[in-house]
Amino acid sequence: LEKRMIEFTKDASRTRDGSRIDLMANIERAEEAAKAVSLGADGVGLFRSEYLFMNSSRLPTEEEQFEAYQSAVRNMNGLPVTIRTLDLGGDKVMDSSDMPMYRESNPFLGYRAIRFCLDHEKMFLDQLRAILRASAFGKVRIMYPMISGALELSRANQVLEVAKEQLREKGTAFDENVEAGAMIEIPSAAVAADTLVEGSKFFSVGTNDLIQYLLAVDRLNDRVAHLYEPTHPAVVRTLKSIVDAARAGGIGVSICGEVAGDPVMVPLLVGLGVDSLSMSPALLPNVKFVVQNMDMAEAKAIADMALETTDGSVILERLLDFYTSKM
Ligand code: PEP
Ligand code: MG
Repeated sequence: LEKRMIEFTKDASRTRDGSRIDLMANIERAEEAAKAVSLGADGVGLFRSEYLFMNSSRLPTEEEQFEAYQSAVRNMNGLPVTIRTLDLGGDKVMDSSDMPMYRESNPFLGYRAIRFCLDHEKMFLDQLRAILRASAFGKVRIMYPMISGALELSRANQVLEVAKEQLREKGTAFDENVEAGAMIEIPSAAVAADTLVEGSKFFSVGTNDLIQYLLAVDRLNDRVAHLYEPTHPAVVRTLKSIVDAARAGGIGVSICGEVAGDPVMVPLLVGLGVDSLSMSPALLPNVKFVVQNMDMAEAKAIADMALETTDGSVILERLLDFYTSKM
């Protein structure tokens, strides 16, 4: 069984009729990269960098960050590593005397992620230089969380250019072709995704936040958890329009929220046209099994059904039926 498992994880992630879907890992610490490779990941689709900042009484230095990013990149043996810039605030708070965070009545709508980074440029530059330096050791991609519009994206890209210039001046190596992209996880970014194509080499959809904001359902509140519905028609349509915008702009689109690792949801996501799914490493084998046992034509039919159905629970039932038929 173990041998069969190893062969399986080495098989490419393709649908039965040959469409390639990259299956990537979400990791929260550099050490997890090795596990991701052993479970057959095609790369890291989301490296959450927050752990370097949380549970610490001070900000990590550029050097400390570089060590962590470089270690993840080396562990992936040339496979791409998508490093997300700091996403503090909301559910991820830092308790550091260097950087006091603020009590807010609506933290998820507050001082968070890219908003916080653009206001703390020195901290942001330290992180960007650390990421860029790691790009000298493998394929690195940079993604910005919580982008709400084109202006914010271009400001982030400008800071990235400053970081590159600082490294050039010192003669420090980095990959000049490193790609940066926006996370699409705020409804404004989803609705105006076409305006973000110019400043993004790829989109990565953060469905955990996108669903919470679209449906106005706090992702951490048990009382409203039953309303958190990934198959809600508004979610399905929004994903479709993000994919359409990415296609029209000639860039790739991946999903890195929890739904990407749910084997029941996978046929719908693939049918809607996403190129890549990123998930917790342990979920990779299950998702690969589903991808390898369906045809793109089946996935497209499921997506068409979902786009025409007005009731999210009916969509979910159809997805469950399809999944069961494959088991
Ligand atoms: C998301 O929002 O879907 C996501 C991947 O980011 P996080 O869960 O870290 O907010
Ligand atoms: Mg998010």
